[in-house]
Amino acid sequence: MNFDLTDEQDQLRDAVRALGRRYGHSYFVSKAKAGEHTTELWHEAGRLGYLGVNIPTEYGGGGGGITELALVCEELAAAGCPLLLLVVSPAIAATVIHKHGTEEQRKRHLPGLADGSQKIVFAITEPDAGSNFHRLGTVARRDGDDWLLTGRKVYISGVDEADHVLVVARTEDSATGKLKPALFIVPTDAPGLEKSKLDMEILSPENQFLLYLDDVRLPADALVGESLDAGLPALFAGLNPERITVAAMGAGTGRYAIEKASDYTATRKVWGGRSIGSHQGVAHPLAHAAVQVELARLMIHKAATLYDAGRDLEAGVAGNMAKYAAGEAAALAVDTAVQALGGAGMTTEYGVATLLGAVRAGRIAPVSREMILNFVAQHVLGQDKSY
Ligand SMILES: Cc1cc2nc3c(=O)[nH]c(=O)nc-3n(C[C@H](O)[C@H](O)[C@H](O)COP(=O)(O)OP(=O)(O)OC[C@H]3O[C@@H](n4cnc5c(N)ncnc54)[C@H](O)[C@@H]3O)c2cc1C
Repeated sequence: MNFDLTDEQDQLRDAVRALGRRYGHSYFVSKAKAGEHTTELWHEAGRLGYLGVNIPTEYGGGGGGITELALVCEELAAAGCPLLLLVVSPAIAATVIHKHGTEEQRKRHLPGLADGSQKIVFAITEPDAGSNFHRLGTVARRDGDDWLLTGRKVYISGVDEADHVLVVARTEDSATGKLKPALFIVPTDAPGLEKSKLDMEILSPENQFLLYLDDVRLPADALVGESLDAGLPALFAGLNPERITVAAMGAGTGRYAIEKASDYTATRKVWGGRSIGSHQGVAHPLAHAAVQVELARLMIHKAATLYDAGRDLEAGVAGNMAKYAAGEAAALAVDTAVQALGGAGMTTEYGVATLLGAVRAGRIAPVSREMILNFVAQHVLGQDKSY
């Protein structure tokens, strides 16, 4: 077992940390409050090659893996800039297109995803299907060579800042007549595609949308892959990168909160000469949260290593566990940090309560803690499925 990063990974982590700190949480919050995006940070990260670390070099990327992308996600979050679109665009969309797209789709999209000039967001969740992806109701019908997409999607992140959205729909299999999943690369300005911004209680520069697709006409090459058979594997291809990078974002956020709180509690004095951190009632919850975050980081490292070694099934178990652990640890760390800061914890200035909504959402999305527990119960513990 090797717990050391390579020299290149170490350098990447230090460089991303430095970039994140130059922007910092106050930048993230000010963008969110102004209803703006973190465009400067995104473009700078793209120019420096951090958004494309997992994209092969022949398409303009860094040629690394999900381990490297997870480092980027964690370090930006640890600097107070948890960017959800890193999970959506380079982790999910770039992986799906690289692994299952046509060569033409790779050439068209991967260089732009790598340098940050393109963003592709991901739309699977539907109002009537929720966690049950077998109930997806967005349907793609053939019309000559074209496709027509109709349906509704909900909570789709970043549609307002993306060029394309990778839409999970269902198509009729001509052999069986059954509906099977297929992914489509849909321009966000396609006629028939309408978006409506959702009011979310998350302080973030990234927004969620309801999408309405009303006979959105797409050319044949909007379908990911050479044929409909690419649909299911393409859908699964995004899952491990998604879980691992979102976990990394959670672990980074947890680190950020614990660092903020421990800096404060080490110096704040309200009972004579002792710092409030000398009281175990303050220090132990922080130490406990630090242990949970570190355990989650260990599982993220394991999951990313397995994934990059091509051991997808084992990475699936580790990635789900990492996502669960990091989601819980991040929520615990932020809540504990708020408490340790007292009144200061609830101010915008100290930049901790500003993350409460985001870490709470991290226990629901992109896959809820309950659905992960179901996965572990069934696939690790051999339990029957109740649903
Ligand atoms: C901030 C944010 C960003 C998001 N971004 C995207 C995005 O970019 N693209 C996208 O496609 N989606 C996105 N989502 C959607 C997200 O993936 C879903 O919210 C999530 O999968 C849960 O689905 P649901 O909200 O419909 O909950 P439901 O499925 O309605 O579930 C409600 C509750 O019941 C529990 N539950 C449901 N079924 C079971 C079961 N069988 N056993 C035990 N418990 C169960 C769930 O765990 C949950 O707690 C985002 C959501 C949020 C909050």
